[in-house]
Amino acid sequence: MFTKIIVPVDISTLDKGADIFRKAASLLDEGGKIILLHVVEEVPSYLAIDMPADLIANATDEAQDKLVKLRDDTGIDAEIELRSGPPAREILACAKERGADLIIIASHRPDFSNYLLGSTADRVVRHAVCSVLVRR
Ligand code: ADP
Repeated sequence: MFTKIIVPVDISTLDKGADIFRKAASLLDEGGKIILLHVVEEVPSYLAIDMPADLIANATDEAQDKLVKLRDDTGIDAEIELRSGPPAREILACAKERGADLIIIASHRPDFSNYLLGSTADRVVRHAVCSVLVRR
């Protein structure tokens, strides 16, 4: 069992997110904490030139709403955290800063099922200093 679990959710695959969120709840010690995390990917500056300045702020608000809905729908208690940057780097940084003892991550996007491991999941598994559960 674990006391602080990071659940990184890709908001474009919320079914998977619900699945790993429930798994986290089943592995959590009494009094433990789950952190639902979404990382908003930054748009490269050469693409952002003609985009509204509040693009990232909007994406962050949308992600926040989706995570709140996920938490309400499942009825599982969790803290919600939004970060921006490269997803794997930010997932790892969050786990370190929070002193997490487990990260639960989905292996890849459902429609990319021919890959064994997605690129974010791959980086997290390689570099995490805590345990990582890769959910198929
Ligand atoms: P794929 O390359 O097939 O999209 P990924 O490795 O990117 O696979 O995604 C696997 C899992 O990594 C997701 O289901 C989610 O748990 C996590 N993940 C990916 N991108 C993000 C993100 N931007 N924020 C939070 N978690 C993410």
